[in-house]
Amino acid sequence: MSGQNPVFIPGPTNIPDRLRYAMSIQTMDHRAPDFIELLAPLLSDLKKVFKTTTGQVITFPASGTGGWEAAITNTLSPGDKVLVARFGMFSHRWIDLCQRHKLDVEIIECEWGEGAPADLYGERLAADANHEIKAVLVTHNETATGVRSDIGAVRRAMDAAAHPAMLYVDCVSSLASMDFRMDEWGVDLAVSGSQKGFMLATGMAIIGVSQKALEASKTAQCPRTFFDFGDMAGANANGGFPYTPPLQIMYGLRASLDMLFEEGLDNVFARHNRIAEGVREAVRAWGLDLCAKRPDLYSDTVSAIYVPDGFNSDDLTNHIFDTYGVSFGVGLGQMAGKAFRIGHLGSLTDVMALSGISTVEMAMADLGYPVELGSGTRAAQEYYRRTATARPALQSAA
Ligand SMILES: *Cc1c(COP(=O)(O)O)cnc(C)c1O
Repeated sequence: MSGQNPVFIPGPTNIPDRLRYAMSIQTMDHRAPDFIELLAPLLSDLKKVFKTTTGQVITFPASGTGGWEAAITNTLSPGDKVLVARFGMFSHRWIDLCQRHKLDVEIIECEWGEGAPADLYGERLAADANHEIKAVLVTHNETATGVRSDIGAVRRAMDAAAHPAMLYVDCVSSLASMDFRMDEWGVDLAVSGSQKGFMLATGMAIIGVSQKALEASKTAQCPRTFFDFGDMAGANANGGFPYTPPLQIMYGLRASLDMLFEEGLDNVFARHNRIAEGVREAVRAWGLDLCAKRPDLYSDTVSAIYVPDGFNSDDLTNHIFDTYGVSFGVGLGQMAGKAFRIGHLGSLTDVMALSGISTVEMAMADLGYPVELGSGTRAAQEYYRRTATARPALQSAA
């Protein structure tokens, strides 16, 4: 494996040098009076990324899964009913977490490759006359299938049913790469992490929390200690942390937010969309199918691609790793062996994407795929040539 090659897994993502250097700091005293000067601007700047002015941000030393657990345990009690759609491995794992916390989980089963069904959420909520459903859970970007869901549509369905449930959104693989609007969409809990769009090492769960969710945390009965909102928010308000903070990641996050704001969030989203479109052009030229069923569901951070019948996608990803020293995402859950994933989020340019696309092609040629060598690369090249702009922003920020 060459350390020089980018990874094309959909998280953890490539860490730009600027962020690696920013994380390389000597130990500092987090009880010193100047810790607040690092912490307070981080929390307020993260609100800009979530696009919330009314909510607040709470972080924990954890991966995204810890963020899920914090969102659930702080705001719900055992036996509480939650409504959630299952359409991929990540929505499946969030459901499993809820069940282990003894919630009453009402599941809407969907075909993998579909998005969150706003109409079905609406129907179930309308039928819940006694308002037993306390929370609606949605995975914004299903990383297993490369599907982005319409959170605004889910919110409209909730409002149309005049249902008071809270809205919880997993935005781990979308925040800071694709547009996310916590206030506009009425999201109560938005769960993310440091190692995807923020381009950092794994180790910080980042959660947007509405006032309604904070209020719910005062009476919710699920046990929590390490992940307690009250302990964390209370300590943060006094300029501290309830335990030892992940200081290296916090310094990295300072630099990450600076990079995102220097490029401009809208430019970050446009860059992800453009890179993703090039990847999709390549998939089309290969004659292969995306798992995502329709263009409105296409994710700009990850593409899941079915291999032709008779081929095993694990053989493909293993061959690429062994022969060319590059990592791509494997098929997860029911897609194991059937699909591979190209992660195209975080610190990435069109030039880097082309290297990934052409590497996949070399491996497919090695393994006898009915795909013409160079066809996808050429399609992506044409797309990137057509849509090139002067001085790509990320380059000047790096
Ligand atoms: C990466 C990811 C998570 C969290 O995974 P961790 O490995 O715990 O960070 C959750 N949901 C989605 C959609 C993800 O892509």
